[in-house]
Amino acid sequence: MENWDVIIVGAGSAGLSAGIYAVRSGLKTLILDEKLAGGTIADASIVVNYPGFAEISGGELADKMAAHCRKVGATIHDLEPATELELKGEKKTVKTAKTSYEANVVIFSTGSHYREVNVKGEKEFRGRGVSYCGVCDGPFFKGKTVLVVGGGNTACITTLYLSGLAAKVFVIHRRQAFRAEESLVTDISAKSNVTVMWNTEIKEIKGDKQVTAVTLIDNVTGKTSELAVDAVFVQIGEAPNSQLVKAAGVETDEQGYIKVDVKQQTNLPGVFAAGDVTDQPIKQVGTAVGQGITAALEAYSYIKRPYYRK
Ligand SMILES: Cc1cc2nc3c(=O)[nH]c(=O)nc-3n(C[C@H](O)[C@H](O)[C@H](O)COP(=O)(O)OP(=O)(O)OC[C@H]3O[C@@H](n4cnc5c(N)ncnc54)[C@H](O)[C@@H]3O)c2cc1C
Repeated sequence: MENWDVIIVGAGSAGLSAGIYAVRSGLKTLILDEKLAGGTIADASIVVNYPGFAEISGGELADKMAAHCRKVGATIHDLEPATELELKGEKKTVKTAKTSYEANVVIFSTGSHYREVNVKGEKEFRGRGVSYCGVCDGPFFKGKTVLVVGGGNTACITTLYLSGLAAKVFVIHRRQAFRAEESLVTDISAKSNVTVMWNTEIKEIKGDKQVTAVTLIDNVTGKTSELAVDAVFVQIGEAPNSQLVKAAGVETDEQGYIKVDVKQQTNLPGVFAAGDVTDQPIKQVGTAVGQGITAALEAYSYIKRPYYRK
């Protein structure tokens, strides 16, 4: 069995940042990713809020992070997902389809995935008008007409945010009322450029190069209608990629996000987590990077300073 100081599962912004700091601290570091290293930010057409890069494509930022991590000496195995974990003992085991690895510390940074509406056109126009992140992509639709799908807190916050940018914001919700904080609902009703359509679901997203329209269905009457929009913001929740760690005894909150303390430590000694998979509220590259750095430096302390565990 191969031995490592640290195994990082997930080579996105959090995992790659953890990798850079772990290697530079002198830890023998392996990073596994089920896809190519770089993570979810590669899906962003343009990133304009990561300090140091006034404007960069998500793909380029992801590639730069992975190249930086490799340059400092991390071993990254692309296309090798972790499939099983044993995390309770002093030595941790990470299994993949190829082999088993052993390490003193595991850092879990597998991110999350946005829940999809699963309609025709959604995948085709992802990044071309279909977005799952209002803060990230909203500014590209200044003065345009946008649609928000969803009725919870996230959908309402996104609606309010977009109402300050877009000329017109439509919101569709499959129920008769929002399931959100009262103050958000009140704020939305005060916005003159927001129209809410109750009992309405999305059936199809249409376009050519970019989104141009959606087909909607009234789930009470069954009547369909067409609405011209420039963007569709799907805001029906996210799901953390935490099934593996949960099965290995790591505590999560009720939505499945890994519970961590300020050191990014989970309930299991020697098991850390960072980025979108954790229960920390802000899900951005900058926050994932910061959490990855903390996890790696705390992993260093855990391994190299025995008094740390007392
Ligand atoms: C379209 C879009 C646009 C965005 N735009 C912005 C933006 O402009 N600015 C910003 O700050 N944020 C943006 N975000 C959010 C940002 O991408 C995330 O906050 C950030 O990527 C989180 O990093 P992470 O490392 O926690 O997770 P991720 O980047 O999701 O990385 C997780 C990695 O874990 C891997 N993985 C999962 N399961 C396993 C497994 N079992 N074994 C091995 N590997 C596994 C995945 O393949 C993935 O590479 C955007 C997100 C999207 C979807």
